[in-house]
Amino acid sequence: MSTLKQQLENRIAETTRWETRRQFAADGPNMRNLWVLTCMDERVPVDEALGIRADTPVGGGDAHLFRNAGGIVTDDAIRSAMLTINFFGTREIVVLQHTGCGMLSANGNDLESALRAKGIDLDTIPIDPSLPELSLKKGAFAKWIGMMDDVDHTCIRCVEQLRNHPLIPKDITVSGWIWETEFRRLRAPDPDAPTRAVSQPTAASMGVKGKQPPRWT
Ligand SMILES: [Zn+2]
Repeated sequence: MSTLKQQLENRIAETTRWETRRQFAADGPNMRNLWVLTCMDERVPVDEALGIRADTPVGGGDAHLFRNAGGIVTDDAIRSAMLTINFFGTREIVVLQHTGCGMLSANGNDLESALRAKGIDLDTIPIDPSLPELSLKKGAFAKWIGMMDDVDHTCIRCVEQLRNHPLIPKDITVSGWIWETEFRRLRAPDPDAPTRAVSQPTAASMGVKGKQPPRWT
């Protein structure tokens, strides 16, 4: 049995390692060598859904966590995944999307119209103000928003996009999951699952009419 002195020395060493792990690059990965892509929605409890400690109380240490509207693959999601996988020891990606998502709650074309009605010129938007070379082609704004028709379909599509992206090595494990906001349970994405009938997995189930600008097809 070790002495308390030894235990305290070990604890301090572990804490120091935790605080400075990023300087060790791939030799200082997070606890689970994991990158999680999920929605910014306040009702997605990442730790509860995945059984990890990523964001509570702050920086649980299990994963690099990326949240955006929908938990979809975007240029910045790719940038972040590329960094953690190629340089910080991450070996696995989990995509976590959810029913009742705000990205199912409206049509992208209607959102574009609403912004134009405010007098915003959406044809000359700097999507990254510090990188003017990154720009949207005229008419691409509604598609860029990334509204979904079907969260299961989008989740499956995002997993495919990550698996096939040239910046993501082929030996990285990539999986996608749906958090059912209504039932507080996790399930695999499946556009044909009958359980979806009592949930809000589609824009249509949230009262949105028409198809989204095509991004996930
Ligand atoms: Zn959401």
